[in-house]
Amino acid sequence: MVKQLNMEKYAQLILKTGVHLQPKQGLIINAPIEAATFVRLVVEKAYDLGAKNVHIEWSDDELTYLKMLHAPMEVLEAFPKWKADGLLEMVQEGYSLLTIYGPDPDLLKEIDADRITAVNKASARALTTYRDYVMNDRVTWSVVGYPTENWAKKVFPNLLAEDAQEKLWEQIFKITRVNQDDPLQAWQQHNQLLKKARSYLNKKQYHQLIYKAEGTDLIIELPKGHIWHGGSGLSEQGTPFNANIPTEEVFTMPHKYGVHGTVRSTKPLSYGGNIIDQFSLTFKDGEVVNFTAEQGEEALKHLLETDQGGAKRLGEVALVPHQSPISQSGLIFYNTLFDENASCHLALGKAYPNTIANGSTMSEEEMDQHGVNNSLIHEDFMIGSASMDIDGITSDGKTEPIFRQGNWAINFDNVN
Ligand code: ZN
Ligand code: ZN
Repeated sequence: MVKQLNMEKYAQLILKTGVHLQPKQGLIINAPIEAATFVRLVVEKAYDLGAKNVHIEWSDDELTYLKMLHAPMEVLEAFPKWKADGLLEMVQEGYSLLTIYGPDPDLLKEIDADRITAVNKASARALTTYRDYVMNDRVTWSVVGYPTENWAKKVFPNLLAEDAQEKLWEQIFKITRVNQDDPLQAWQQHNQLLKKARSYLNKKQYHQLIYKAEGTDLIIELPKGHIWHGGSGLSEQGTPFNANIPTEEVFTMPHKYGVHGTVRSTKPLSYGGNIIDQFSLTFKDGEVVNFTAEQGEEALKHLLETDQGGAKRLGEVALVPHQSPISQSGLIFYNTLFDENASCHLALGKAYPNTIANGSTMSEEEMDQHGVNNSLIHEDFMIGSASMDIDGITSDGKTEPIFRQGNWAINFDNVN
């Protein structure tokens, strides 16, 4: 059975290359109830690797929908303290965090945007310290895909549910390199390449990036001391891990006050159960001052108004070649984990503190002075295309090509 074998290879990859689970370590798994069979396989392998405990946080799209539909607003506005405390306790004990992820992109289509915002806000507030552990890599963590039925049907609308799921499994195995003989080895090579790209950009320390494409004319200033990441990272304890499987990006933070011009999205954004599509954002001094969307404009408005301004500024700038395997699949996944790795993207909201020197120890005031954005949200959206050109402006004002027609203009084999 090829599929069974691939599922086992996938589970190994997730645990060894993804969260890089260590003996005697605990593991939290967030997973949809639909993935139970696969989750059991992962848990078995986790114990084989010496896990001390595996804690599962099950979710169920249908129950989420019912609660979003019926629960009174005061319930949606309150995130249970016992739950936040419990999760925090586990990461404080050094638990790794694995999120197995495959939400129905249309789940909350009919739910009032105010109710969705309330839930997102409440969980963001209650889980601030917990998420700080994750965003600062104080523990290893990884987000991976699982082809739930409704997600698969969204990606392959003309297939029957079962066939759509099979097809999405195939795509996931291909994109994550699981269908190769030795996925762990393939990921080592892939991580090596991303490391070359990020080292090159870290040495360059570009002052600005200039984006040109259809509907896009954008200047992004990069703060002094910005750090590009990509591929495997190191946790606080020095354990290498891959936070996303798949991942094709190198990324850093923009200066929160240094973004000017207009950028157009090139893929739909699935946000809180809504699709926002064909949208355009115009920035002045780093802030969104104008926006339009052909679909989901109301959801986009709510997204931008999540907090007092941080949601209107950028927290991430990521480069992904247009010839990445996900992009080559030609599919729209309606799932950020996959779509963000198909294309150059930006994120509205919070910046990863580790994308600037000393970012993890800065006070809020210092963060602001250095141009580090803070927000309740971090929402990626895709802007890359085969027509995208990106230039870097050096600190002494020289212009250098970084991307031409959607792909790297730099041959990393020739740089050291
Ligand atoms: Zn990204
Ligand atoms: Zn992001």
